[in-house]
Amino acid sequence: MVLELKNITKNFGGISALTDVSFKINKGEIFGLIGPNGAGKTTMFNVITNMFLPTSGEINFLGETISGIKPHKITDKGICRTFQNIRLFSQMTVLENVLVGGHCRSTSGVLSSVFRTKSQRTEEENTRKVATELLELVGLSSYEDVIAENLAYGQQRRLEIARALASNPSLLLLDEPAAGMNETETDNLFELIKKVQQRGVTVLLIEHDMPFVMKLCDRITVLNFGKKLAEGTPEEIQNNPDVIEAYLGSE
Ligand code: ATP
Repeated sequence: MVLELKNITKNFGGISALTDVSFKINKGEIFGLIGPNGAGKTTMFNVITNMFLPTSGEINFLGETISGIKPHKITDKGICRTFQNIRLFSQMTVLENVLVGGHCRSTSGVLSSVFRTKSQRTEEENTRKVATELLELVGLSSYEDVIAENLAYGQQRRLEIARALASNPSLLLLDEPAAGMNETETDNLFELIKKVQQRGVTVLLIEHDMPFVMKLCDRITVLNFGKKLAEGTPEEIQNNPDVIEAYLGSE
């Protein structure tokens, strides 16, 4: 098992964004987190990455509790995320964006050091090599020197994934990766996430595009008003009367 959420509750003043939510994600799975607007999905990502401390509950990652670890240390542990709204370094090149991602989990500060030791130089070369490979994976090799904000929308989304992968995560959290994409971009994204899975990375994704989720995910948890409504395979979720009534019926 990669991630275990145990009885997570998150209150904001009088609002309960999450109430007693538990689920487990196995190694290598593509796991979907779905539900209506305001169901608590992004809050769950913020709790997993410790941007918000849960009001109660516990998170275990690769057998170790990560509750209370500082958000920037979460990357060192092997969890990386993308956001609902694209957050690239828009004035930097495509390659530089991925190099920054690689730097996030590097231990010796390869990019910030002026006087580099031989081992730091080797590490910098490795970071560059990995960045180049990742750009190939996401289909952006020929855009290395392009300023990130000049990429098309779908390409920016894929660059975000490459940057996240550069930190070498065991678990990748994707917040609505297909939002705003056209059909071709969504198809490319589907192939990319499958390739990410083949690299041994476990994926947890929030998504409203139901055909995409049902085709891509191994298992799904449904949230509604901050509570877990259902969990199962795409087929089980699609045929669950409670899920149809609360969410799928209105999609
Ligand atoms: P969407 O699909 O629209 O992105 P969601 O399922 O991701 O929705 P959240 O963004 O997690 O839902 O919000 C869950 C609830 O928590 C909502 O009622 C929201 O208003 C509330 N909430 C989220 N973040 C905060 C915050 N920082 N302060 C106060 N309330 C918040």
